[in-house]
Parts: sequence; structure tokens; C-alpha cells
Amino acid sequence: MPEQNRNSASGRPDRNKQRIRIAVVVLVAVGLFFLSGPMMAQILGIGPKEVPYNQFLDAVAQKDIHEVEIAYERISYNLKSDTQKNKTVYYTTPLPYVELTDMVPPLWAGGAKFTGKLTEQNAVLYAISSLILPLAFLGVTLLIMRKVTQGGGIGGVGKSKAKVYMEKETGVTFRDVAGQDEAKESLVEIIDFLHNPQKYTSIGAKLPKGALLVGSPGTGKTLLAKAVAGEAHVPFFSISGSDFVEMFVGVGASRVRDLFKEASKVAPAIIFIDEIDAIGHSRGSRYGSHSEQEQTLNQLLAEIDGFDSSKGVVILAATNRPEVLDKALLRAGRFDRRIIVDRPNLEGRYQTLLVHTRNIRLAEDVDLRRVAQATAGAVGADLANLVNEAALRAVRMGRQAVNQEDLLTSLETVIAGAEKKGTVLTDIEKRIVSYHEVGHALVAALKKHSQPVSKITIVPHTTGALGYTMQMPEEEKFLRSKEELLIQLQTLLGGRAAETLVFGTQTSGAANDIQQATSLARAMVTQLGMSEKIGIMALASTENEYLDGQSYMSCAQDTAAEADTEIRQILNGCYEEAKALLAQHRELLDEIALYLLQKETITGDELMAYVNASARTETEEGEA
Ligand code: ADP
Ligand code: ZN
Repeated sequence: MPEQNRNSASGRPDRNKQRIRIAVVVLVAVGLFFLSGPMMAQILGIGPKEVPYNQFLDAVAQKDIHEVEIAYERISYNLKSDTQKNKTVYYTTPLPYVELTDMVPPLWAGGAKFTGKLTEQNAVLYAISSLILPLAFLGVTLLIMRKVTQGGGIGGVGKSKAKVYMEKETGVTFRDVAGQDEAKESLVEIIDFLHNPQKYTSIGAKLPKGALLVGSPGTGKTLLAKAVAGEAHVPFFSISGSDFVEMFVGVGASRVRDLFKEASKVAPAIIFIDEIDAIGHSRGSRYGSHSEQEQTLNQLLAEIDGFDSSKGVVILAATNRPEVLDKALLRAGRFDRRIIVDRPNLEGRYQTLLVHTRNIRLAEDVDLRRVAQATAGAVGADLANLVNEAALRAVRMGRQAVNQEDLLTSLETVIAGAEKKGTVLTDIEKRIVSYHEVGHALVAALKKHSQPVSKITIVPHTTGALGYTMQMPEEEKFLRSKEELLIQLQTLLGGRAAETLVFGTQTSGAANDIQQATSLARAMVTQLGMSEKIGIMALASTENEYLDGQSYMSCAQDTAAEADTEIRQILNGCYEEAKALLAQHRELLDEIALYLLQKETITGDELMAYVNASARTETEEGEA
């Protein structure tokens, strides 16, 4: 859901407030605990009762003293006239100049028993009043506190599974998930495994214990996980990582333990952990790690390692920030499978609209394709929302069916929200991004004479890049020639070149390209000895290749300045060359860019079809 995009920092002030509140309540409770013993005894009339000295003298005069204990600074006694089983003990402080021994004869005469144990007579009751009552009080306080902290508090220790959510049968199938074909394909195996674990275990094959669903909020990660459970007809356990953030030390860990215990009881089953980055973010990262989070993470790792995957418990986790996850989570045997759940392209959006209008009465004039076209960058949740808004509008208007106008009007509200988040491109932005991406791909295709990319898309990517070009996996190569590196530079700068060539503008979309190109050119000059002016001299050394690969300049300042000039020249040269190449093939650039604009995603094969067709006409023209 879109609003899930909160980062872990935003919950913090609230949590601090809550902690302070809890600390105050605990302090008050402890204070009362110490104060309340004698006080309560007084109130309840259980402990010894203090009386004035003359009341004691009266009792002596009336010969009413039953037992008496005379201590240095205190005289305790009880009364014959007191008929209770446990006689009330009274005490009084002797007057300073009265000889205590003077009290003995009158007491003697009254038949009092002298004893040394009077104050302990009510020991049991006294203990109850001074210990157990305050303890009970403390307990009640904690109970109230638990209400205050909304169920996540101390009261939740151990058993409470308030936020674990279990569905015996989700009823969701792959039919309910539109598009996302690649993600579905990767999940089919898991479903098959849940259906029939023996098939796998009898061969000795081990299935991955978990898969990580990566994608922007609202792209359908939860839906996919439910669909896996639905397709396999297994129970679905889900919990959100952010639930753990609110917890006290140890609670998260015990909840994880319970979760796995419950799930393996009913295995085969799916465990779904939403927002796993909330517990799984890198330990010792600068977000600061909290011991409760660390404990929870450790428990999770232990459970993942500990359970026997042949039983058929599969863990799916979702995140939109895979880069912050702790490496330990991603190790082999844990979440080593990554399933990308991308924003839908045109076809995907159309399919999503179809799914969500299945149970909606549509008027004749509804054209869902047009709606899909107008919603580039919207995710499944946006589209579901859009359809619902449209239906509500139709009801408000007193109509029997949703018409196109309803859809287009609610589109504005939904898309306005999405635009704010920067995920929906305006028309002109789409055109620029389209040319930019084709610029990269076309330079590479023309220079290398081979298919350079597997896919080009202008659908904003999860990682924040507007559109992207998926490179073909590099052939296994240990050596790269200067020519190849120059082509790579031209390819990197081809995006900006196309923007400038076609629109005469320069956009921020090229920032990452420029960064990459610059580091590459810098390496060529300062480390690879590929510049004539500098020659074969290493100006920079890489300190620790295995840590971060950062390099440090180790040369005179003049040389460094010279290197910078050289780097700039290489970059500018490559940029000009890319621009010239694109200018020379301007028609081809237009054709492909417009095609991409229409389809939003094209494959490398489609790109090459255009390139090859144009090459053919060129040679034909040359021959004629
Ligand atoms: P995520 O977990 O990725 O944040 P959800 O799975 O919670 O997203 O999606 C929220 C809602 O959006 C779903 O319940 C569904 O109605 C709708 N939705 C998202 N993606 C799709 C999709 N591919 N097909 C159909 N509906 C979708
Ligand atoms: Zn680019």
C-alpha cells in the first residue's frame, strides 16, 4: 500500500514519547511499592496501631492489658477486651523521664503477660499488606499501561500473537494478480513444492527456504504472497516487520519463535514477512540498531536456519529497500532468491484494471486501454483505488454503471497523489525519458553491432531511476580494451546526448550516467594508463579492493589537475561522438523512441529489428 513507504526513522519521536510515559508509570509504581506497605497496613488496620501514652495508662489502670512487650523506645500491648482471634496490637512511645521498670508492678497487678514477640503476631497479615498488595497494585498498573501502549507492551510478552495474522485459505489466486508474469513464473516452483514436497525431497533437491519480493509499495507483493498460498491451498501467516519496531526487548524474538512454531504445526504453510527491512536492516548501520531489533533479527535467522525445509514451510518477505538489508539475511539458504515486482507497464496496467473491474458494472463507453495509457507509473494499488473511486462517484451521481468520465475524473485525484510521490511522469517527461533511454541503447547497438540490451523501459524503476536500460550480461571477459571502454563511455553519455539533440535541454535524469562515466574515465587515466598525455603512470591506488574499492590519488597536485583536464577531454570527446552518431541516425532514433513511448517496454530484439532494418535500407541506398 502506498502509505507503507514510511521509513523507519519517522516512527521514532512517537516511540520516545511512549518510552518516557512508560518510565514514569514504572517509577510511580515502584515508589508506591515502597511507600505503600506501612501506609496500607494503617489504612486496612492490620499492623500495630499507634496510640497516645495516656491511652496505654488507661488500659493499665483498667487492668485490661493482656500481653505486653516493653522495649526501650516502644511499648506494645494488646487488650483482654479485644475478642478477635488476632488481637490488635497497640504501641506507644514511653515518656522520656518515666522509668520503664516503674510500669512493671501495675501491669503485674493487672495480670498482664510479659512477652517479647508481640509485634510479630500479625506477621502474616502484615506481609500480605506490605508486600502482596503493592505487588498486586504493580500488576494492575502494568495492565493499564499495556492498554496505554496499544497492546504492544510488556503485557504482550511471550504468547500474544495479536499482530500475527493467519488465514487458513486466502482464496487469492494468480488470476487476481495482473501482470507480474516474471514474478509469477519464479513462484510457480514454490507452489509445486508446497503441493508435493516428497517429489523434491525424494530426489534430494533442497528448495530455497525463502524468497524476497522486491518492489515499490503497492505493486502487489502481499497479493502475490497470498496468491502463492491460495494456489497451493496452504495456510498463510503474515506479520509486518514494522510491528516489531514498537516492541520491548525480547518480545519480537519470542514472537518470531511462536510464528515459526505455529506455522510448522500446520505445515505446509507460507510465512509472509512484510516490510522486512524494519527488522532486517543492516546491523550496525547508521540508522542505529536497537537491541530489540537485533534480537529479533537473530531469532529470525536462527529460525530460518533451524527449520527443516522439507516440512514445507516457505518464507516470503517483502521490501522496497533491499539495499539496506543485513547481508546475513541474503546469504545462501536464506533469502537468496530475489523476485522483482516492478511497476506495471501499459499492458500490466490494463490487465490490472480488468481484474479490478471484474465485479463492477461498466457503461458502454468505458475504454480501459485509454485509462491505462494515462496512468504510466501508477502501481496496482493506485489502480485498484482508482476503480473504487470511480464506482463511488457513479453511486454519488445516482448512476447504475461506471462510465468513462467517472474513471477519468478519479484518475486525476489518484494520479495527483502519485505525481506528488514522483512516480508518474508527465507527457513531456515521458518523451524525454524515452529518447534518453533509446539514446543509450542505440549508441551501443550501432557501435557494437550486436544486441546491447535485453530490455528498455520508461516505467519508473523501483530503484528510483526513471526508465532504465537492462544491459545484456557481460560476456565473461577479463580484459577490456581501450576501444571497448570508450564505447562504454559513449553509451553512458548517449542518454544525455539524445536529450540535448532532440529537445535542446539537459535534465537531471543523466546524473547517474555522468557519475558512472566520470569514474570510468578517471580509472582509465589514473589507473589503467590509457591516456597519452599522462602515459603509463598510476596516479591513484586502490586501497582495499575487497572493502569498498575506493581509490586515492597519490601524485602531485599539478599532475592531478592535468589528469582532470585529460578526463574532461575524454568525456567531452565521447559525448560529442555519441551526439554525432545519434544525429546521423536521427530517423532511427525518432522511430524507436516513439515506439517505446507507445509501448513503454521494448525488448532488445525489437530494438535490433529496427536497427537491422535501417542498416539494410542504408546499404541498399548505397548500392543504388
Ligand atoms: P504491496 O504489498 O506491494 O505494498 P499489495 O499487495 O498490498 O502491495 O497491493 C495492494 C492492493 O493493490 C492489492 O490488494 C490489490 O488490490 C492491488 N494490486 C496491487 N498489485 C496488483 C496486481 N498486480 N494486480 C491486481 N491488483 C493489484
Ligand atoms: Zn541514462
